[in-house]
Amino acid sequence: MLFPACRLALHSVLGLNSSILRRSLISSSSTVYDVVISGGGMVGTAMACALGSHPYLCHKKILLLEAGQRKAYDYLPEQFSNRVSSITPGSATFLASFGIWDHMCSMRIKPYKRMQVWDACSDAIITFDKEGLEDIGYIIENDVITAALTKQLDTMSDRIDVLYRSRAINYTWPGPHPDGGESGWVQIQLADGQKLHTRLLIGADGQNSMVRSTAGMKTVQWNYNHVAVVATLQLSEPTDNNVAWQRFLPTGPIALLPLSDTCSSLVWSTSPEHAAELLEVDDETFVDAVNSAFWSSEHHSEFISSASSVLRSVLSLLMPSGTSARQLPPSVSGVGKKSRAAFPLGLGHATEYVRHRVALIGDAAHRVHPLAGQGVNLGLADVASLLSHLSSAAFDGRDLGSTRHLLAYETERQRQNLPIMAAIDLLKRLYNTKQPPIVLLRTLGLQATNAMTPLKEQIMAFASK
Ligand SMILES: Cc1cc2nc3c(=O)[nH]c(=O)nc-3n(C[C@H](O)[C@H](O)[C@H](O)COP(=O)(O)OP(=O)(O)OC[C@H]3O[C@@H](n4cnc5c(N)ncnc54)[C@H](O)[C@@H]3O)c2cc1C
Repeated sequence: MLFPACRLALHSVLGLNSSILRRSLISSSSTVYDVVISGGGMVGTAMACALGSHPYLCHKKILLLEAGQRKAYDYLPEQFSNRVSSITPGSATFLASFGIWDHMCSMRIKPYKRMQVWDACSDAIITFDKEGLEDIGYIIENDVITAALTKQLDTMSDRIDVLYRSRAINYTWPGPHPDGGESGWVQIQLADGQKLHTRLLIGADGQNSMVRSTAGMKTVQWNYNHVAVVATLQLSEPTDNNVAWQRFLPTGPIALLPLSDTCSSLVWSTSPEHAAELLEVDDETFVDAVNSAFWSSEHHSEFISSASSVLRSVLSLLMPSGTSARQLPPSVSGVGKKSRAAFPLGLGHATEYVRHRVALIGDAAHRVHPLAGQGVNLGLADVASLLSHLSSAAFDGRDLGSTRHLLAYETERQRQNLPIMAAIDLLKRLYNTKQPPIVLLRTLGLQATNAMTPLKEQIMAFASK
């Protein structure tokens, strides 16, 4: 074990740049780590930063492995990236607790203060906002999140080893009765031939996690036969642009998420065939399709509209303060050059998040439809929970790879994740139909929920965590 001060001394005496130093440490010193995180996406990198910031864990020997390139900014590109995430206030507070939030704010974030969700088959809407126009979430480019995490990781180069462009190609698990030494640890084989050992392997390697599959952890999963088309859009005129808009079309939800006074980000979930068309058409046709998806009333039925307006009148008599006004979304005038892209959507849940010496976090453990903007937020909540269980284990001097505290992490997270995943899946199915009885039912349900301020406050508090 090489203590931070010795590493720092080596750093200055040898005058090596950090990646060479880190590589030489890995090949020359013992390759048994306390923790290896496989996968340096948003969730894995957040895990590395969280471990490196914690007083009980920062002296452990920790490695982050990432198959891709290091992602940092020398300067912030003027054009917005087409991949963005809606980050909850709860995630923002967690990121602030280890210094990431300030880096993000110094780059680019867009707070939003209201959310309007409405049905394309009726007049039903639901709106969310907080008293005093507090922020209810933040739209942040994924590249900005990763660059902020990388910047923070750079400040921990004395504590955390990082290998970019290093793919793990195999994992070997310790047997039930290891005969001591390295056979008791997880062995990781890298594509360049190196072999590493670790007391705890954290799988943060995304939806097709190799950690999960080689450990034999089962998943429940299905594809939605849905593709998310993303793009950066220019608005017809500058506005405060502090509302996140989502309309449920029978073909899938379309969301317009604010980026600046003049730009918003599109996430349009639709059939693979329609998505392919949306990627092919010229800019003008694409912009027309987006505006029509937000404005058109082609899916309205007179019967549902009448039933809905009767309910609205009754609710406005019973709960006059509960029926909030509908706002009109901004119209779109252009689409960013080469900003259109598509991503297949599905649901996946690992039936186990942990085994002896292994834990899964982020999309490796659970994958959800983006309609509720929860994927990264659930992953960051995994990081917070695992950090808390590992720090207690370290404080008590226990083995970090023991199932004793890993199982407590699994129970805590599955209790939180499963109801959210079930609710997102139900919403997806409920709104993916034009069947009149279902449309009527959801219209009445949405109108009633919109009128019940305490219920909406509870939904918001739950979704903001
Ligand atoms: C269109 C769309 C919109 C979304 N919007 C939101 C939103 O608004 N809010 C939200 O919270 N979530 C959103 N999500 C979900 C979110 O993007 C994911 O939940 C999140 O990216 C998962 O992060 P991760 O770090 O767990 O996995 P990933 O981002 O998949 O990262 C995994 C990393 O592991 C690395 N890796 C894989 N295998 C290996 C290996 N063998 N060795 C070394 N490294 C490896 C990969 O290179 C990658 O960097 C959205 C998703 C989509 C598709």
